[in-house]
Amino acid sequence: MAGKIVKVSGPLIVAENLADVEMYDVVKVGSKKLIGEVIELRNDKASIQVYEETSGLTVGDEVLSTGAPLSVELGPGLIEGIFDGIQRPLNMLVQVSGNRIGRGIEVPSLSREKLWHFVPTVCVGDRVVAGDVLGTVQETSVVQHKILVPFGVEGSVSEIAVEGDYNVTQQIAKVGGRSLTMMQKWPVRKGRPYKNKVSPDLPMVTGQRVIDTLFPIAKGGVAAVPGPFGSGKTVVQHQLAKWADADIVVYVGCGERGNEMTDVLQEFPHLTDPKTGQPLMKRTVLIANTSDMPVAAREASIYTGITIAEYFRDMGYTVAIMADSTSRWAEALREMSGRLEEMPGEEGYPAYLSSRLAEFYERAGIVNVLGSNAKQGAISAIGAVSPAGGDLSEPVAQATLRIVKVFWGLSASLAYKRHFPAIDWLQSYSLYDDKLEDWYATNIAEDFNVLKAELMFILQEENQLNEIVRLVGMDALGSKDRLTMETAKSIREDYLHQNAFHEVDTYTSLEKQYKMMKLILGFYHSAQDALKHDVELTDILALPVREQIGRAKYVEESHMERLDEIARNIKKEINALVSKGDANV
Ligand code: ADP
Repeated sequence: MAGKIVKVSGPLIVAENLADVEMYDVVKVGSKKLIGEVIELRNDKASIQVYEETSGLTVGDEVLSTGAPLSVELGPGLIEGIFDGIQRPLNMLVQVSGNRIGRGIEVPSLSREKLWHFVPTVCVGDRVVAGDVLGTVQETSVVQHKILVPFGVEGSVSEIAVEGDYNVTQQIAKVGGRSLTMMQKWPVRKGRPYKNKVSPDLPMVTGQRVIDTLFPIAKGGVAAVPGPFGSGKTVVQHQLAKWADADIVVYVGCGERGNEMTDVLQEFPHLTDPKTGQPLMKRTVLIANTSDMPVAAREASIYTGITIAEYFRDMGYTVAIMADSTSRWAEALREMSGRLEEMPGEEGYPAYLSSRLAEFYERAGIVNVLGSNAKQGAISAIGAVSPAGGDLSEPVAQATLRIVKVFWGLSASLAYKRHFPAIDWLQSYSLYDDKLEDWYATNIAEDFNVLKAELMFILQEENQLNEIVRLVGMDALGSKDRLTMETAKSIREDYLHQNAFHEVDTYTSLEKQYKMMKLILGFYHSAQDALKHDVELTDILALPVREQIGRAKYVEESHMERLDEIARNIKKEINALVSKGDANV
């Protein structure tokens, strides 16, 4: 039986007499059949957030329940897809209704016409369980899509399609009496099951020196990055999308102003994947809310995104999901909460803000996926926060910081000085440090962590020395401290500063990061020794090898021996100064 609208308040409507409706069920509202979701049930009244413009709806209009929760379609066709917050394909919407997306349009998330070349990997009679691979589809030149036995299905394979072209609704297998297609559905607000979580103790290498060396993120880790305007947030995100060692990238854009989202829609499709030379979209799923979509769709988008990420994780892939920005998402939550007339918490955000944020980030992680073979998959989640005025003490930033384990604090003042990436080394942190230490020591170099700690120590010392210099001037410092200041400068300019647009500098392997650190600290230690031999600091600082250290970042990965040569030059030049000094005595 159809329910009737009793109240319309922007994107929120209240309906009564909806039979058998459950929390989070999807409903169709009014004659245009606008898509909505039940977000509160009280007696026989249901509060519904509507994902489309509600103007024109009036009291008395019909509401029909679909009897199913908000779900996404999972199958071939996700990669290279650009979807809105409830997984409607944006390009199809535009084709159907022009640039201003019409209302109540029903377009399937995954194309029903497109044929995919399915290659079976099981035979009739095989026993399979949920998570097992039935066959594969080369979805793009880069991504092999694995067709998984859906959750809740197991048994012996009684039918399996022969290799050939199928669409996502044709049967490709029959398992335990159930007919299976290449597509499955999953309710977005529920995490997809896995066997168990694994401790995140492998790094997700990004090739960005300040991140990998000082504030690393684990594979399956969670990070937040605040984004004051112009601080280089977009470039950081693009660099991560391009270079992080993830198989799949899911980018969720919850922009507020229309143009913010259009930027993403225009920029992402033009990014080139450095690993393959092909468009980055060949392993990317984009979820974008454009300005003509109401706030409610924004609220759903991060769940849609993480569900898609989980699906690829279940295939055994490493996925990086970026949500930009969770502040805009939280504002949507606040608006809906206000309309529900809930008791407001801090700054009007609902009291459940933190738990909702946690629900999102908790779905990241590295897990043993379902299936009869042992296999791991991972989701690393990176959320951008963009508090008004860059004020990190506001509720969304605070709630986020309590959940995430890595914080890359972008600083407007560093960006102003053109120090990029503008990740503030004094403000940022990574709580994966301890967990990852073993990996770095075993796989890169035994003393990697020692060098990194010294790098950080020198930067902190610089901060303290700066205070003194501010009070009494540089002349008050002895040559030992002045050397420390110069080394900190070298760390900042020759190491942390990294030009995203320079062919070589844009990515640095961990091996090269290690060698670069060794150069800077090697010079520092040799110079300290030289000072003990009464060599003048000005002579040390004038050594030609310093220029070579500064240019080490531009040395190609294939010519790493040049870095060893610079290391030898450091020794040679400083030794020469020392012996000259000794000879003069
Ligand atoms: P935001 O998204 O925070 O407003 P952007 O990411 O667009 O800022 O960065 C602003 C500008 O800063 C870029 O156009 C670019 O010139 C410069 N920039 C940012 N990061 C880097 C980087 N890693 N290397 C070189 N230039 C950078």
